[in-house]
Parts: sequence; structure tokens; C-alpha cells
Amino acid sequence: MNKEVTSKKVFIRTLGCQMNKHDSEAVLGLLMNHGYELTKNRDEADVFLVNTCSVRKHAEDKVYSMLGELRKLKKKNKHDSVVGVIGCMAQKDKKEIFKRAPNVDFVCGTHNSHKIPEIIKSVIEQKAKIEFTDMDKQVFISPTLSSRENKSSAWISIMKGCDNFCSYCIVPYVRGREVSRPLENIIQEVEELAYAGYKEITLLGQNVNSYGKGLSKKIDFSDLLELVHKIKGIEQIQFVTSHPKDISLKLIDAVVNLEKVSRYLHFPLQSGSDKILRLMNRGYTLSHYIEIVNRLRERIPEIRLGTDIIVGFPGEEEEDFEQTYQAMKKIEFAQAYMFKYSPREGTAAFKLKDDVPQKIKKDRLDKIIKLQRFVSNKKRA
Ligand code: SAM
Ligand code: SF4
Repeated sequence: MNKEVTSKKVFIRTLGCQMNKHDSEAVLGLLMNHGYELTKNRDEADVFLVNTCSVRKHAEDKVYSMLGELRKLKKKNKHDSVVGVIGCMAQKDKKEIFKRAPNVDFVCGTHNSHKIPEIIKSVIEQKAKIEFTDMDKQVFISPTLSSRENKSSAWISIMKGCDNFCSYCIVPYVRGREVSRPLENIIQEVEELAYAGYKEITLLGQNVNSYGKGLSKKIDFSDLLELVHKIKGIEQIQFVTSHPKDISLKLIDAVVNLEKVSRYLHFPLQSGSDKILRLMNRGYTLSHYIEIVNRLRERIPEIRLGTDIIVGFPGEEEEDFEQTYQAMKKIEFAQAYMFKYSPREGTAAFKLKDDVPQKIKKDRLDKIIKLQRFVSNKKRA
């Protein structure tokens, strides 16, 4: 452990998905090993980190408004504090962030989080602005026991990046190509967590079903589930996210046979229209998706299903939206995350005309939110 004698306090604000929350815990663990303490009070922080998301424009706008607030705070009482922007938007916007938010001291991309303590030190010593955004190598860093917020349920990263290139999605560009974490590291981390009293774990990846690709040992996600299942002390295993095109019979068998594996499965449909699914480059049709739903429900009647849905994708006509609405009504998801399409520069869909007016996107979103509220309440009753 590289402990430095310092009593500096760090404040971290995290936007976006569970992956980002996990990454923030990992960065906090590193900083704690360098003598930092976490503070929940912005006024007393020496270092501010904003862990960003660039999946939708709305998330990016939030970051700039947050950085504006930090600027005022820095002027008021913390002239020598360090402000760092990390995560997906740091990777995507790089130097642009310094231009739009001159109070930012460093920008650190998705492949460089392990360098953050060193970057902060350089910012302080050199009084310079620093940018680290190369994407040469995926590095897995895990939270420490003390940096994990939840003391009984833990996130574990099993892979990074994504090779799917759904046409609307910025993730493969900002998180890089898919890399699976070596099996031994995952097992060791789960064993340590079990020893420390953790009962519940969630295996994290953009597309967990393709775990194992590129590893020297031949292993797939179902094998990993089986091995994790054997670890004493762990009582509940969850995983996110599954891609419908990669849900195999072997995986369904594993979920059926491994009793500690959660009976909640999140595998985003995105749209109920085959035309839109094709434009999204999702690699399945609605009927294939429904086949998986039926197979899962036949084998595991108590299974709860979760999805993500995007409305207003380019070319989505009323009848395409209606197919999404009807699919949601038919499938009856226990949970759904629903979004308006947000064009992301650099993605394939960015070249398509964003031709669904905002008002229609909003109406469609409102309509499925209302439907989902009704379905979720019915399922809970
Ligand atoms: N890898 C996961 C998957 O495939 O389901 C999650 C990736 S993404 C961080 C989470 C969700 O954001 C996606 O499932 C999608 O519904 C939504 N999303 C991604 N890009 C989007 C965009 N450009 N506009 C609106 N929603 C988007
Ligand atoms: Fe994005 Fe698709 Fe990869 Fe999920 S599977 S991260 S939606 S490209």
C-alpha cells in the first residue's frame, strides 16, 4: 500500500450507470490508500471529482452545470482545491472540457483511473492542467472494503468496454473494445468479499453474456456463474446487463439450476419494431426476443424481467412506436428504464436525421411511462 501522510478530503459526484458507481468506489479506494478521506460535504473538500456519463446529452449538460457550481465554490472558499473530470465524458470531450469549464484542473479518461492519485499530485506540484485520455490498455481496479458504500451487497466488474456498436450508443467509443477480466481475479475478489461478510454480489459488464471472449482459458459466462455460485457465504448473485442476442440455452439452464442466481433478468429490448431494431443494429427481432421471454418463463415461472426502451429513434413512425407499446404491454416487464433518443456525435445513428420532433418523443415517453407504472403496480399487487 502506498500510504502518504495527508489528511486531504475528496468529494465525488457520480452520474450514470452502476458501472460508473462501481468505478467511483474503485477510485475512492485508490485515493484512500494514498491517505485521502471521503467527504460528503463539498465545502470541506480539497479534491472534487465528477465521474461523468455521456450516454445522453442531458447527462453531459448536468456535468457542465455542476462544474459551474464548483467554480463559484472554489472562488468563495477553496482557491487551492483540485477539480477533476473523470469517466465517459472526460474520454469523449477531452480538452474541450478545459475550454468550457476553465476551473477544471485535470481530465482523466476511462482507461486511466488507476493514475488519478499521481495526476492529483502532479496538478498540485506543477500547478498545471493535465489530460490523460489514451486508450491503450483496459486496467481493472476494484474498490477496497472501506471504499464500498454498501456493506452487504457489492458490484464486481467482470469485463470492460463493448464490441456491439448499437448504432445509437457512444459506449464502445468511450469505453473501448470489450475485454474480459481474468477469471482468477474475479474469483479472488468474490472470495474476499464473502470472507468480509458480503452476502450479495452483482457481476457488471456492458454485455455480460459474452464474458470470456479473448481469455486464454476457454470459459463462458455460465461457467463463471457456476464457479461464483460455489463460493460459500454468497447468497445472492445478480448480473447486468444481458444482451438478448447472446442469451443462450446454456445460460438459461445455469439460471434454472443455480439457486443463488437472482430471478430478475435485465435484458433490454430497446424497441418493439423490427425496422427500428435493425436500424439500431441490435442483432435480433421482436419474435426472437419474445421466444427468449417465453423460454425463460416456462423454465422459471417466478422470473422478473427488466428492460431499457428508447423512443423517438430516427425513422420511428407511429406504427413502430405502437409495436413497442404493444410489446411492453404483452411482455409485462417488472422494471423498465425508458429514454428519449439523444443523438450522439460519432455514432452510426448520428448520420441519420433526428426526425422525430421533441414533442412527439416526449408524448411517446410519457405514454410508455404511464403503461409501465400500471404494469409494475399490477405485478406488485
Ligand atoms: N450495455 C447495456 C445494454 O446494452 O443494455 C447498457 C448500455 S447504456 C449505458 C444504458 C441504456 O441507455 C441503453 O440500454 C439504452 O437504452 C440507453 N441509451 C444508450 N444510448 C442512448 C442514446 N443515444 N439515446 C437514448 N438512450 C440511449
Ligand atoms: Fe451500448 Fe449496445 Fe454496447 Fe449496450 S450493448 S453498451 S447499448 S453498444
